[in-house]
Amino acid sequence: MQHGAGVIFLDRDGTLNEEVNYLHRPEDLRIIPGTEQALRRLKEAGFLLVAVTNQAGVGRGYYPEADVSAFHRYFNGILEKEGAAIDAFYYCPHHPEHGIGAYRKDCHCRKPETGMFEQAEYDLAMGRWPVRGGADGISFDPYAVPVTITAEEYAEYRRRMPAIDKTGSFMIGDKLIDTEAGHRFGVRSVLVGTGYGAELRAKDAETEGLCPDGTPKSGKYDYYAENLMEAADWILTRAGS
Ligand SMILES: [Mg+2]
Repeated sequence: MQHGAGVIFLDRDGTLNEEVNYLHRPEDLRIIPGTEQALRRLKEAGFLLVAVTNQAGVGRGYYPEADVSAFHRYFNGILEKEGAAIDAFYYCPHHPEHGIGAYRKDCHCRKPETGMFEQAEYDLAMGRWPVRGGADGISFDPYAVPVTITAEEYAEYRRRMPAIDKTGSFMIGDKLIDTEAGHRFGVRSVLVGTGYGAELRAKDAETEGLCPDGTPKSGKYDYYAENLMEAADWILTRAGS
């Protein structure tokens, strides 16, 4: 693409896989039907795929960061067999109140903040992902990338060397913190009805109302899709517009 890559940012729990509290064990993974096909279609259309996931279970001490990486490696192994592999997984281990020690933090990465998106763009520009010929496993683990970039560093870097085409990129998630994070980063956002999405759409529609075309008057997301397949359909008709 002329002005940088088109990237699909993906929430994980409730969007790709069924919501399980503090999911970290491979045996608890239940992929939502249609996920592999939807991701494959987006990849075939030329999009890069990036997962951006809040994992406060790490900060709360429920499971270590190594489990996040191992879980994503396992998850991607399944997706890869279907031609649907995710290019990189970014995560936030913090929680502002319940994090233990250094994990208790008002961080820049926890959605609806945008640190994961910004770090992903910076790393893409640095050639750290997509990983070709296998990850080196030492300097960059694409299965659990932490955020170190600050908002100021990102703003400075983005001015000099943008790597993502924001008008041709999208965020998909089942919570309004997901769609808000996408908007703050500057991409269009799709709310999916899996996970918490249907309930959140109903609540938002009840309090703020819907436009005749079904988009929310609140402007909290740009499109509502029942699931990831429908989200991919909408994106594929909008891509480049
Ligand atoms: Mg979710």
